[in-house]
Amino acid sequence: MSQGKLIVLSAPSGSGKTTLVKYLLNQEELNLGFSISAASREPRGAEIHGKDYYFLSLREFKNKIKADEFLEWEEVYRDNFYGTLKTEVQRLWDSGKHVIFDIDVVGGLDIKRIYPDRTLAIFVKPPSIEELKIRLKKRKTESEDKINMRVAKASTEMATAPQFDAIVTNDDLEKAKEEVSQLVRKFLLK
Ligand code: ADP
Ligand code: 5GP
Repeated sequence: MSQGKLIVLSAPSGSGKTTLVKYLLNQEELNLGFSISAASREPRGAEIHGKDYYFLSLREFKNKIKADEFLEWEEVYRDNFYGTLKTEVQRLWDSGKHVIFDIDVVGGLDIKRIYPDRTLAIFVKPPSIEELKIRLKKRKTESEDKINMRVAKASTEMATAPQFDAIVTNDDLEKAKEEVSQLVRKFLLK
């Protein structure tokens, strides 16, 4: 697809972007394909290599940075590198899909800078930082330490919200689903 577009959902961890991305991917008429990121962290729970992430060792990840294989990459948390491989976006465009990203705020804004007209960058806002912590605790996928590290970063991430094309508050999940769905639909039909 030469006219493939890019949909970015970014937010502090725990805001609900993965939930919203999954919802959008299930709407077949939107024709979205998930950009599988590379990550240097360990797989968590039932995560699968090549489906949720391409899990790489720190050394493999750094070699790919050197070889300029990333469209964008970020050390989101210490020694936890995440990035979008150039080949991944091309793979999805070649298969005729628009690309949807679940990435951190810095990476999301990088994508917007690289493809300003073809990208819709949405910031998913949690109702409060307190609520973020509650959701991460309930999700039970991180240790207390890791949760604190994620929550500590949330305030600086929240401050980037005005740089996005749209802000969707994820308080009532059904409302947030409807809102992102409308935004994406409008952008893809443009
Ligand atoms: P992220 O991808 O931003 O880290 P997730 O989509 O994993 O966030 O959501 C974090 C947790 O909060 C998950 O357990 C999810 O089921 C839950 N969640 C998502 N949206 C809401 C909401 N509106 N109200 C309450 N819980 C939610
Ligand atoms: P998690 O470890 O919870 O899967 O992800 C941690 C953070 O890294 C989340 O904010 C997630 O969106 C972000 N992330 C995932 N993939 C990428 C990527 O390819 N690039 C960037 N910059 N961030 C990513």
